[in-house]
Amino acid sequence: DGLTGLLNRDELVRLVERRWRGHRRRQVHGVLVVADLDHFKQINDTYGHAAGDVALQVFAAACRSTVGRADIVGRFGGEEFVLFLDEATVDEARDVVQRITSALAGTSLPGGVVLPTVSYGMTLVRRGDDLADVLARADGALYAAKDGGRAQVVVADVDAGDRTTSP
Ligand code: GH3
Ligand code: MG
Ligand code: MG
Repeated sequence: DGLTGLLNRDELVRLVERRWRGHRRRQVHGVLVVADLDHFKQINDTYGHAAGDVALQVFAAACRSTVGRADIVGRFGGEEFVLFLDEATVDEARDVVQRITSALAGTSLPGGVVLPTVSYGMTLVRRGDDLADVLARADGALYAAKDGGRAQVVVADVDAGDRTTSP
């Protein structure tokens, strides 16, 4: 991706699908996380588009520096990012999000720009899952996080098709 240096959407899809094929004998492949910056339009409106670009770069860097080497991070479009945490459990994925949040809290932006909060939807990826279904599940959880007031993580319940919220 030209702005953030992360994978772009097509590259991310290709790499994630290839990784899952390599894992096809495992019961659990890992956790897929969708992250969307909250009220990002207001960042552009308040500080200007260039400041918005910097915020995206800062978020991307926080993700990249937090995840492990085997993990896959991409900018899915606009202010939405996708992380595939290879062989992670949901608890480990929550911990990664917590560490991204801490990294962001310790980052200051030029010109007094305040970074937006971030909403996350995540889901476990299991054998037989295909990417479209997994993205739809994570998106549903992200939508619930937005609906629940933003700045939070929602985990899709893969068995019930329903959701549970975490602080
Ligand atoms: P929500 O909390 O519901 O996600 O609200 P939001 O404002 O973040 O979402 P919305 O989809 O309304 O707005 C997304 C904004 O992201 C609008 C668009 O101008 C901005 N955006 C998308 N790509 C870029 C980019 O590359 N640079 C900058 N600066 N802004 C971008
Ligand atoms: Mg947004
Ligand atoms: Mg968005």
